[in-house]
Amino acid sequence: MNKTVSFAVAAAALAGAAAVFAQQNPNFGYTDTPMQPNGKWHIHDPARPQPTVVTPGGSEGPTTPAPSDATVLIGPGGDLSAWSMTDGKPATWEIKDGVASTGRGVLRTKAEFRDVQLHVEFATPSAVQGESQGRGNSGVYLMGAFEVQVLDSFENRTYADGSASALYGQFPPLVNASRRPGAWQAYDIVFTAPRFTATGELEKPAVVTVLHNGVVVHNATAFYGPTQHRRIDPYKATLTKGPIFLQDHGNPVRYRNVWVRELKGYDQ
Ligand code: MG
Repeated sequence: MNKTVSFAVAAAALAGAAAVFAQQNPNFGYTDTPMQPNGKWHIHDPARPQPTVVTPGGSEGPTTPAPSDATVLIGPGGDLSAWSMTDGKPATWEIKDGVASTGRGVLRTKAEFRDVQLHVEFATPSAVQGESQGRGNSGVYLMGAFEVQVLDSFENRTYADGSASALYGQFPPLVNASRRPGAWQAYDIVFTAPRFTATGELEKPAVVTVLHNGVVVHNATAFYGPTQHRRIDPYKATLTKGPIFLQDHGNPVRYRNVWVRELKGYDQ
């Protein structure tokens, strides 16, 4: 065997081992899921390239304070009165000194939104526990349907479309701009709700731009549909507005300084 061939054989053996490893560890990816609409990857494909790591500039603070026309959802010294559990019962997550900690069950805003600018700050635990999807997993859902993943993606391999700031199960972030575990991190999200025709056909999909710690990780990307584990849901014409969710995935994650601005057109 010449050098090139032996390298190729070794690489193939490594790739094979990685595939077997992935199949044995569902957290690292799936190969029995449907293909993405672009036909290139399975949903949660373990072979999809890992986003390039970029160290964000600046530091974890100070926070970006809410502008005067924002609706503050978690504010300095505030409470969770803007939120309930998804069944409408009062929010049960703990909040102290303006920092909310994930509890049992998903939080939803009482208000519903369409097109928004959303600022969220979160921190995963500094004491690292678990791996892959089991480390600092939570999520920010637009309209209760489109998840921007929250995860500790600092030196934590998982399937690319499940990384921190991924549009879960659809698009990995353009780069991995995660800070170290325990550090405060920010998402700045600009979201345009889907539009439907009078007869209920999809006219324009939901579109999102996301900055993670000031770094663009999605640039006007259209969701294929509502995000789900192991699948992509179809658009439904009833999806014209909805609440913001904060996900409980059984991992401790903290949130602070969450605010939203509703976006309207020009000259309104
Ligand atoms: Mg999640």
